[in-house]
Amino acid sequence: MRDFQRIGRKGVLLLLALAVFFLTAWAGSGLPRAEAMEIDGGWQYQAVENDSRWQPYVPGSQPLRGTGHRVLWLRATLLPDHPEKDTMLFSTTMKSIRIWVDGQVIYNYGAFGQSYFGDGARWHLVKLPRISAPTDIYVQVYYDDAEQRVGMFRTMRLETGHTQVERLFQYDMIYVVTMPIAAIIIGMMMVLYWFNTDKKMKPLYLSVSAFMLTFLLWALAASNIKELLFDAPLFWWEILCTTAYLLPITANCILYCVLREEPEAHVELVIGANVLLMFVAVSLELMGKFGLNRMMNGFYLALVIGEGVSFYWLVRAARRGNILSRAVLPATAAFTVLGLFDGIGAHFGVFAWTVFLTPFGIYAFLLFVAGILKTQLVHEAKLTQRAEGLKREVEEATELSERDALTACYNRTVMHKLFMRAKQASVKQGQPFSALMLDIDHFKRVNDEHGHDAGDIVLRDFAHTLQENLDASKYLIRWGGEEFFVLLPCRDLIEAAVLGNRLRRAIERGKMGGLSITCSIGAAVWHEKDTDDAFFQRVDRAMYQAKKTGRNRVCLETDAEG
Ligand code: GH3
Ligand code: MG
Ligand code: MG
Repeated sequence: MRDFQRIGRKGVLLLLALAVFFLTAWAGSGLPRAEAMEIDGGWQYQAVENDSRWQPYVPGSQPLRGTGHRVLWLRATLLPDHPEKDTMLFSTTMKSIRIWVDGQVIYNYGAFGQSYFGDGARWHLVKLPRISAPTDIYVQVYYDDAEQRVGMFRTMRLETGHTQVERLFQYDMIYVVTMPIAAIIIGMMMVLYWFNTDKKMKPLYLSVSAFMLTFLLWALAASNIKELLFDAPLFWWEILCTTAYLLPITANCILYCVLREEPEAHVELVIGANVLLMFVAVSLELMGKFGLNRMMNGFYLALVIGEGVSFYWLVRAARRGNILSRAVLPATAAFTVLGLFDGIGAHFGVFAWTVFLTPFGIYAFLLFVAGILKTQLVHEAKLTQRAEGLKREVEEATELSERDALTACYNRTVMHKLFMRAKQASVKQGQPFSALMLDIDHFKRVNDEHGHDAGDIVLRDFAHTLQENLDASKYLIRWGGEEFFVLLPCRDLIEAAVLGNRLRRAIERGKMGGLSITCSIGAAVWHEKDTDDAFFQRVDRAMYQAKKTGRNRVCLETDAEG
């Protein structure tokens, strides 16, 4: 619960930061309504050709409506007061445009004829001719669907060319900044998709990529840079609408992945409703009935209801400790609220500003991406931990299988491996190695006089004493019973004998299980043309030579010859 409160506080802080961010951005880059001070008496419009009634019109206010004719005229009087403000910037939807000054056409865009020129917003940047006296400017507008609204002239503003381009850039900034962020998120998701071992997370990565791709296309279609790629307002309008319908669908696919294991959440129903809506809209559009536009009311209704329900499920899951659900909450809230503002603003034309807020939702989405990465890191850490645990278990099991239970020396099973390794190293380095065979003297007596258990303790202490006198380059193996074998890197018999004597003295001097014992030792050197049998026979014989010649001594293979 405390954890949730902590996340909750973080979420609130993030939302506050977001609010400050987009409000400042909006204040900085919002395009105000047209206030063309250099235009005498403002704009007027004449809806029907050859009808001399001119009515006042404020660009940026409610869109003009068609009156059954396909041509509309706008008129204003240009004053020569500010010759530096020689560029007019305005935006249109669903129009072909022709601009006249002094009886001359100074700007021409789109075809004036029935050609389903259709929807689609476009900015027009028009260079005005120099004037020395008040001059009338006429904007002739052609629109294809006589019954439809003509759309908004968002702004009609005279400025220097430089300022106008700056304004356009400001408008585009929001989109231009978010597009690379979306592209980076897609890249990250693809990397996670390909390299991830957690199969359950893969659909989530795909959904996030799909959402970000839709978002990227939507932002491109909403920005002006699309015109640099392809100057086709209708095409971009269709992309804008289609991606707008796809955004809640792909977003809910993400929520579906996040809430998949929550019993009461049924995000698939929300997805289904949105898909149905999009299907109807696209079908009507294909039938030429402007479905994408007409179904927008339903779209916003579905957005409010669908996201509202999903949000409720998310909050419940978050309270139960679903980390991803917590992480996706701010993004869901931000995109829904911002999208709703934009939609109502653009579709119903109720707000004064013309800047879209939806792109700012991506900053809240970054929190979700961080949540995904965190989940991924936790998963990786768990895997590493498990792998390390397994490795340790295997090592321990191997160690156990290689060691003798009583003395903790290597057992006969490993002997073969160690001996092979010594032979290979010997061949590689071109150097011989040697071995010692040790046998406790009169051990039967120890058993007979002190019991088998006491004998065991003697054996254990004997092995420990030997081990203490051997470094890591020397291997102590329990050959069987009270016989031990030592593999040495020593290159000659003298070296091996010196070490053998050191071991012998250590046993002789110490107390093994409280008793004084001795051992007999044989030494042999492995040479290039040796065989295993011959070698073991030689070292064994050397040990017996030590027994034969009085015990508690070291004998070399050379002593046992003959
Ligand atoms: P020698 O000096 O000739 O070696 O005399 P020895 O009595 O040591 O004779 P030998 O090496 O043949 O005796 C081995 C004895 O070691 C026989 C067996 O009872 C005893 N032994 C073998 N393994 C163990 C063990 O694990 N624990 C105990 N307590 N005794 C063992
Ligand atoms: Mg023996
Ligand atoms: Mg013995």
